[in-house]
Order: sequence, then C-alpha cells, then structure tokens
Amino acid sequence: MRCPFCGHIDTQVKDSRPAEEHVSIRRRRFCPACGGRFTTYERVQLRDLVVIKSNGRREDFDRDKLERSIRIALQKRPIEPERVDQMISGIVRRLESMGETDIPSKQIGEIVMETLARIDTVAYVRFASVYKNFQAADDFDKFVSELRPGATLAEK
Ligand SMILES: [Zn+2]
Repeated sequence: MRCPFCGHIDTQVKDSRPAEEHVSIRRRRFCPACGGRFTTYERVQLRDLVVIKSNGRREDFDRDKLERSIRIALQKRPIEPERVDQMISGIVRRLESMGETDIPSKQIGEIVMETLARIDTVAYVRFASVYKNFQAADDFDKFVSELRPGATLAEK
C-alpha cells in the first residue's frame, strides 16, 4: 500500500483488528520512509459494481463517495459513527445483492433516501431536498458539493 504522504510503496502493517462488527479489518500502517501513519480498511467486495448515469455514462461504484454524501447528510445528528458504518455497509451489501452489476445512479439515490428515512428524519430531508432538486442526479461529485450542511432549496 502506497504511503499517502510521501508516495513510498513499501509501508508496513503495525496492527490489524476486526472492525464494524467483523464486517471489515482495520489496519494501522506505518511508512518507514517518512514515518507517516495511516489506516486502511479491508472489506468483502462481492462484485464490482458499475454506476450507470442518466446520460448513459458508466463509472465504477465508489463506496467513499457514497459514504461522504451520507456523512454530510448526517452531520451533527445524534447518530453513532458505528451505526453510520453499519448503514453504509448495509446499503453496499444491498446493491451488491441486487443481482445486477450495472446499477442506475438514480436507484442508488433512492436506496440511500429510503435508508436515511428510517434512521434520521433531518438527514433524510437534507439528502432528499438536494437530491430531488438535482435534476440529473447522476454527477455524484456535484451532488456531494451541493449537499453541504445548511444547504436548502431557498438558497439556490
Ligand atoms: Zn511515507
């Protein structure tokens, strides 16, 4: 694993332990070149998912993007980080078990909204207001940048 600080390729694993109720392995890594420390997570990936945008473009599914958008929606909400991890793993597991490798971005948004609605109403409204206002709903980077705390329809 390449060091994110200096680019050195040969980093060392200092510690490995189960995380998220044994859904993942958390590894503490150390870079002998610059002394940097960082953490990686190892997770089961049942299949390689591809997101189909509404303009037909294909993009590899990115769990980090999904996680980012959900964490922003849940910012300052009284939800335990562990619970958020479980929720994200649950969404990914659901996507992976749908039987299709190609998943429309719209469908991912719907599943996220459905899940948030069960966990936290405020986060759901935050996510949904941006999502529904965002016509194409397929450029996740743009989506995430719009989904910032305090953003409302009235601001646009
Ligand atoms: Zn380094």
